[in-house]
Amino acid sequence: MNLSQLETGQRGVIVKVKGHGGFRKRIVEMGFVKGKHIEVLLNAPLMDPVKYQIMGYEVSLRREEARQIDVITEEEALTKVPEINFYGTLTDKEAHDDGLHLQQTKLNRLVEVRHNVINVALVGNPNCGKTSLFNIASGAHEHVGNYGGVTVDAKRGFLYYKNYRINLIDLPGTYSLSAYTPEELYVRRYIIKKTPDVVINVVDASNIERNLYLTTQLIDMNVRTVMALNMYDELQTSGNKLDYEQLGTLLGIPIEPTICKSGFGINELLDRVIAIYNDQEKVARHIHINHGKELERSISRVQRYIAENESIRSRFSTRFLAIKLLENDERINMRIRKLPNWEDILRVGDEEKKRLRKELHSDSESAITDAKYGFIDGALRETFKNEHLQKRHLTRIFDSVLTNRYFGFPIFFLFMFLMFQATFTLGNYPMDWITWLVDQLRHVVSEYMPLGPLKDMVVDGIIGGVGGVIVFLPNILILYFFIALMEDSGYMARAAFIMDKLMHKLGLHGKSFIPLVMGFGCNVPAIMSTRTIEDRKSRLITMLIVPFMSCSARLPIYIIFTAALFPNNGAMVLMSLYFIGITIAVFAAKIFSKWLVKGKSTPFVMELPPYRMPTSKALFRHTWQRGAQYLRKMGGIIMIASIVIWFLGYYPNHDGYSSAQEQQENSYLASMGKVIEPIIKPLGFDWKLGVGLISGAGAKEVVVSTLSVIYSQSGDEVGQQELGKRIPIDRITAYAYMLFCLIYFPCIATLVAIKSESGHWKWAYLSAVYSTSLAWIVAFLFNQIGHLIV
Ligand code: GDP
Ligand code: MG
Repeated sequence: MNLSQLETGQRGVIVKVKGHGGFRKRIVEMGFVKGKHIEVLLNAPLMDPVKYQIMGYEVSLRREEARQIDVITEEEALTKVPEINFYGTLTDKEAHDDGLHLQQTKLNRLVEVRHNVINVALVGNPNCGKTSLFNIASGAHEHVGNYGGVTVDAKRGFLYYKNYRINLIDLPGTYSLSAYTPEELYVRRYIIKKTPDVVINVVDASNIERNLYLTTQLIDMNVRTVMALNMYDELQTSGNKLDYEQLGTLLGIPIEPTICKSGFGINELLDRVIAIYNDQEKVARHIHINHGKELERSISRVQRYIAENESIRSRFSTRFLAIKLLENDERINMRIRKLPNWEDILRVGDEEKKRLRKELHSDSESAITDAKYGFIDGALRETFKNEHLQKRHLTRIFDSVLTNRYFGFPIFFLFMFLMFQATFTLGNYPMDWITWLVDQLRHVVSEYMPLGPLKDMVVDGIIGGVGGVIVFLPNILILYFFIALMEDSGYMARAAFIMDKLMHKLGLHGKSFIPLVMGFGCNVPAIMSTRTIEDRKSRLITMLIVPFMSCSARLPIYIIFTAALFPNNGAMVLMSLYFIGITIAVFAAKIFSKWLVKGKSTPFVMELPPYRMPTSKALFRHTWQRGAQYLRKMGGIIMIASIVIWFLGYYPNHDGYSSAQEQQENSYLASMGKVIEPIIKPLGFDWKLGVGLISGAGAKEVVVSTLSVIYSQSGDEVGQQELGKRIPIDRITAYAYMLFCLIYFPCIATLVAIKSESGHWKWAYLSAVYSTSLAWIVAFLFNQIGHLIV
């Protein structure tokens, strides 16, 4: 009997909650657990939801939800004495004794007996050994029949094991849970409509990659699953090695090796079925298969629209529905059409499919399949030792080189070197053109605008400040082009893969590597991309060290100083700064993982999506998105900061001094700078450099625009080289200044990103404080020791 069948005033006891994981979790959290008494307060036939009282609370459930909760009533308990005896848990004497106390006992026993019936469905590919498992487990208790109007065989049987009655159903073999064949549809409907308590996913160990495809779909459906790793004998004789415990941990599914010809492993398998049924299985957890950035974006968008319908959430995992909708699943489409907002859902679905086609250059359906195989690939790469993984041909050839034990690292470093080299050298040409353009603009404005503060503001404030940083647009575009190239081609995932071992030594995960590389572009998207790291600890640490990856906004600062002071070995100086940033990140990661961020790491799969020829369109779009972002920053924060800095440097009493020098020394800016001068003096910086640092807190580009404003005097042009030369510091102090800029205070946008991704301001504050302190110490030591030596 289920809860929706109870009438107003009737009382019952909960036996079990069925349905998919998300639903069960919610219901159990509301207090609907085995053995709890529940009373129906109001159940009118046409009314939804129904009101209940449980543990003194009043709650309402939809009829649909109540249908998933098995209960027994007190009346039932009285009439079901024989059933209790049948299971041998109540003696005759007890059974025939009356009295209130015994009624309770009977009720409790009956709950126990009913609860101890586990409905188990066998799901797996054809010929993986389901029927053999079924036969060996259920022995003689079987009967064969056709079910559900389709001509597919589904055998039912049962067995007793350790106080449990386990009902088994041998479902037809399928490779997938799409709606293409009657078998697939049948299995899927069985899982959704009949809601077995546990699914045994039978997997042919000698053909594991293909078999796991079905497993990924079970994961999407969020059903409690135990895997029977069948044909284990064949795996053993083949000489391949599979670390199935690790694989189970990665998938969140307990795995038990079985040989259904001999009966090996069957009892252990049943033990795990019981454990997972009672929520006592440690390995079991619900994971999300990461389908990659673009697909995940589409999935969660569609999912949001589906989830507006409370009614459907009790039956289906909304994530599963969203994935299926993007896979053009006809049946799911029909199901969605019954929802009140179906038009919105389908419209959004179509939009996303169109977007995906443009973005990934393949239809969403095959993109999802590819992503799932990428997930399987990654999971097996970490657990399965076999040279002959049946990968698609091209991917195998590429992988054998790019993730090769010997070639992998050199190729990666070569690529990184090319990336930085191109950023710095190729970027110089367009940089010159932009500098020229900015100068032309300056001339025109100087010539045609009437003299006065307004002209000074435009020329020195806006053109000086914004012009000072806009010239770096080409560098930044080139850097982003390379990052887009790595991401779109699938190489980034491989880079993460070969870095995995190294990252583990830092208490991180291979996946942390991607945000770190992206950090060279901009820390903000880098921190947002830590979302793909499932493990909270690794995620937090990654967020905290990303700011040491020298972002492109810091590049202008380095270029100014190296161009002026290190003209002959600029590249070396630049490389050294990046390298120091990385080194600090490494040490910080170690320290954090040891002392600061608590908790154990949970392993997860690193997907290896198939290689894709990146399309020039997508590459340019991804690159340009960043470029546009940079330009918006120019028009926004950098422009405003430039004007503010100009204002503070221009006033008060601009025309009251004999020399420009004297004027500047008496400006607001100078007064502010002089306040902090004592703090930065030991580092060798004067107040002007100090003002640069303060203004850089908003965005690091502003350091350069500020310096350009401070050092440009009345309409003259300050080229990059020129600006650097005007700043009166020696090489050692200049390097200390660059070090400080590298390490100190991540910009405001980065802090906000850390806050929103970690959920706490405390991590953002921590990041701001420790990085600034560290910057001071490093710059101090460098400046002091440097001057001693040289
Ligand atoms: P089903 O299609 O999934 O129901 O698979 P069957 O149970 O019909 O099994 C297919 C074949 O695999 C049969 O010939 C079985 O004897 C064989 N088989 C089943 N389990 C094992 C096993 O653990 N090891 C080996 N070597 N063969 C098995
Ligand atoms: Mg069979």
